[in-house]
Amino acid sequence: MSQKKKPIFVTRSSMPPFEEYVETIRPLWDSCWLTNMGTYHEELAKKLADYLGVPFVSLFVNGHMALELCIQAFGLTGEVITTPFTFVSTTHAIIRNGLTPVFADIKEEDFTMDPEKIEGLITDKTTAILPVHVYGNMCDTEAIEEIAKKYGLKVIYDAAHAFGVTKKGRGAGDFGHASMFSFHATKVFHTIEGGAIGTKDKNLVHALWKLKDFGIRDEEVVDGIGANGKMNEFQAAMGLCNLNHVHEEIEKRKNIVLHYRERLKGRKGLFLKEEQQNVCSNYGYFPVIFNPELFGEDRDSVFLRLKSHGIHARKYFYPLTNAMECFQGRFDVQKTPIAKKIGDRVLTLPLFSQLPLEEADRICDILLENG
Ligand SMILES: *Cc1c(COP(=O)(O)O)cnc(C)c1O
Repeated sequence: MSQKKKPIFVTRSSMPPFEEYVETIRPLWDSCWLTNMGTYHEELAKKLADYLGVPFVSLFVNGHMALELCIQAFGLTGEVITTPFTFVSTTHAIIRNGLTPVFADIKEEDFTMDPEKIEGLITDKTTAILPVHVYGNMCDTEAIEEIAKKYGLKVIYDAAHAFGVTKKGRGAGDFGHASMFSFHATKVFHTIEGGAIGTKDKNLVHALWKLKDFGIRDEEVVDGIGANGKMNEFQAAMGLCNLNHVHEEIEKRKNIVLHYRERLKGRKGLFLKEEQQNVCSNYGYFPVIFNPELFGEDRDSVFLRLKSHGIHARKYFYPLTNAMECFQGRFDVQKTPIAKKIGDRVLTLPLFSQLPLEEADRICDILLENG
């Protein structure tokens, strides 16, 4: 039976109504202005600043480029304290800027950087902290920013998972010196590919404007060594359309998450993260942590079992970034034991707004089948 079913992947891009997108891009055929900070680019930047509750939003071709150029704009040197429990982009952005990542361990409850692990890692070379709002869980921003202030460090959040998330009513992009959002096709809100920096810092916005356009100041002066990180008009148009529906998108995801939670709660050996107090989630991911002794089966075995039924969950985040081949053993995973444990035990289940509840039920049935 199950073999005949269509495969279910961990995510599926949300699409605006086709006609809406077509109507939105039609004027581009008249203006022939396709990129380089066009009308839609400017409109989207304004609307997102509003939605995200942050004074300024600077748009980029993707989230990674936003993060890389933001680090460059701050002119950081030496060491940056970060987390290995993230997508590889976070670590690469640090290293590609010629900086050294120093990995702090995470908290077992919500997988974000443990503020208690930070101070012991600060040296006279440390210039910044780069935490990640994992799965849309907000970091302990108060504690992190207090430490940063004490040592004069910049705080740049990887908020790729935190679009639309608020803490005590304050938008995720409004914390620290800057926050990076990803608008990749697989995220809660997307512009096909795309990303942004949210900040209160007007000088940063000016620096980023130049850095994403080759460091060009004006027609005759190039006074920065920039890259090409501009978001084009077709991306911005997709963003404007998706923004019209993002509320609905999050509501549908919430419904599925509540259903998963209801079906899986109480089962021995499964850890489902509680919702954080004072935080309004975007329901971007549904991670499950398997305790192999109590559940009677380890994560890899559950992963394969689901796969044999055409259900493609994801080991996200595994491997940890400090264990990746490209770094050739330069970092020691044993120094972040909680991240290592969670990375070995986590599976994120399929979650997208079009996922029917019956399919979510089937996924739970298979997952619980071993008991
Ligand atoms: C998606 C993601 C990125 C990178 O964003 P892109 O838009 O794909 O370049 C960085 N960090 C995290 C945690 C992500 O999930």
